[in-house]
Amino acid sequence: MRKVSKMSIIKDFLLQLTFMAIPIFIYNTFITERVKNTENRKIIMTILWGISIIGCMSFPVVFGHNTRLELRVIPLVLGTLYGGFFPGIVLSALIILYRFSFGVDLGFYNTVLVLLFSLPVILYFQRSFAHSKKDMRVKIAVSLSFYYCAVGLTWLGILRGFSKENLTVPIIHLIFAVTVTWCFTLLIESIRDIHQLRLEMQKSEKLRIIGELTSVFAHEIRNPMQATRGFLQLLNDPDLPDKKKEYIQISLDELDRANEIINDFLSIGKPSTDDKERINTGYQIQRVVNIIQSYTLNRNVEIKTDISEDCMIYANPQRLNQSLINILKNAIESMPNGGTVWVTCHATEDQYIKITIKDQGTGMTKKQMDRLGSPYYSLKESGTGLGMMVSYQIITSFKGKIQVKSEKGIGTEFIILFPQIN
Ligand code: ADP
Ligand code: MG
Repeated sequence: MRKVSKMSIIKDFLLQLTFMAIPIFIYNTFITERVKNTENRKIIMTILWGISIIGCMSFPVVFGHNTRLELRVIPLVLGTLYGGFFPGIVLSALIILYRFSFGVDLGFYNTVLVLLFSLPVILYFQRSFAHSKKDMRVKIAVSLSFYYCAVGLTWLGILRGFSKENLTVPIIHLIFAVTVTWCFTLLIESIRDIHQLRLEMQKSEKLRIIGELTSVFAHEIRNPMQATRGFLQLLNDPDLPDKKKEYIQISLDELDRANEIINDFLSIGKPSTDDKERINTGYQIQRVVNIIQSYTLNRNVEIKTDISEDCMIYANPQRLNQSLINILKNAIESMPNGGTVWVTCHATEDQYIKITIKDQGTGMTKKQMDRLGSPYYSLKESGTGLGMMVSYQIITSFKGKIQVKSEKGIGTEFIILFPQIN
C-alpha cells in the first residue's frame, strides 16, 4: 500500500515537471524561429505558461489526505521574468480565477494573499532580470521562487497555526520549487546561449559570402570608373564655359566619392597597410561632420561641434574618417526621434588628442557595451554589426584608445584618445 502511494507521488511529480518543460520546448522549437514579433511572442508565451499553470493546479502531487503540492509558482515566476509586466498580471489573475473555481476556502484566501505579497516583488525584479547576465538571472529566479514559497508558508502558518504537521508539506514544497526553478532557469539560459551562437554563426556565414561577392564586384566596377574619370578629365578644356566646367568637376567629385565608398567596403576586416601621415584631426572631423550632415537631414538630428584647430596626429586620413563616420552614424541612428550629437576635439595636457562623440540616444546596457566591437554584433534590424569592429580596428591601428560611457535611455559617449605629435 505504502509503495503504491510512493510511486504515485513520483508520477505526479514527474507530471508537474512535464507541465514546466512543455512551454520551454514549444517556445524553442516552434516560436523563436517563426514568430519574429516580440508582442506576439509574449502573448503566445503567456498562453503556454497559463496552460502550464492550469496543468499544475489540476494535477497536484497528492500526499495522503488533503495535502497537495504543486509547482504553479514556477510558470508564474518564469513567465513574468521572461515576459514582463503584462504576462505577470495575466498569469496571476489566471491563478486566482482558477483557484476560485475550486471553491472559496482557506486555500483560496491563502492563494490571494500570497500573490498580493509576491507579485509586486516579482514585477519589481523583472526589470533588473531583463538586463542581467546568465548567473544573475538564475539567482534572481531562484530567490523569487524561494520568496513566493516562504510567503505561502508564512500565511499558511498564520491561517492554520504554526504546527509541525501543518508546515511539513510547505517546507518540502519550498525545497522542490527552488530546486526545480534553478534547473529550469539554467536550462532556458543554456538554450538561449546556444540559439544566440547559432544566429551569430548564420550571420557570419552570410556576411562572409557577401564580403567575397562585393570584393569581386568592387574590382569590376572600379575599372570602368577609372576609364570614365580619365575621359572626363580630357573633356575638361580650359575654353569651356564655366557652367560646363562646374558640371565636369561635380562628376569628378562624385566619381571620387563612389571610389571612396568602394575602398571602405574593401577595407572591411582587412589589416591596415595604408600609409600614415601627419594629419590635422580637427580638420578631418569637420569634414566628416559635413559629410554626415546629409544623413541627419530627415532625422531631426542636430550636430554641435567644438573643435580645436591644432590637433596633429599620425594616421591615415581616409581610414580615420571612416572610423569616425561609423561612430557618428551609430550616434545618429540611436536617436530615432531626433536629438543632438556633440562632437569635440581638443588636445589634452598629457599629450593626447581627445575626441568625444556624445548622443542622447537609446544607450546601452553593460552587457551590450561589453560586446561592442565584436564582429556581427548588431541590435538593428538591418544592421551589419561591422561598423564598430572596423572603427575599433582602425583606431587601435593608429595607437588610439576608445572608452565608452553609456546609460540605457540617456545616451552614449565615445571618447577616443590618440597620441599627439608636434
Ligand atoms: P550596426 O550599426 O550595423 O548595428 P555597429 O557595429 O555599428 O553595427 O554597432 C553595433 C551595435 O552597437 C548597434 O547595433 C547598437 O546596438 C550598438 N550601438 C553602437 N553605437 C551606439 C550608440 N551610440 N548608442 C546606442 N547603441 C549603440
Ligand atoms: Mg553602425
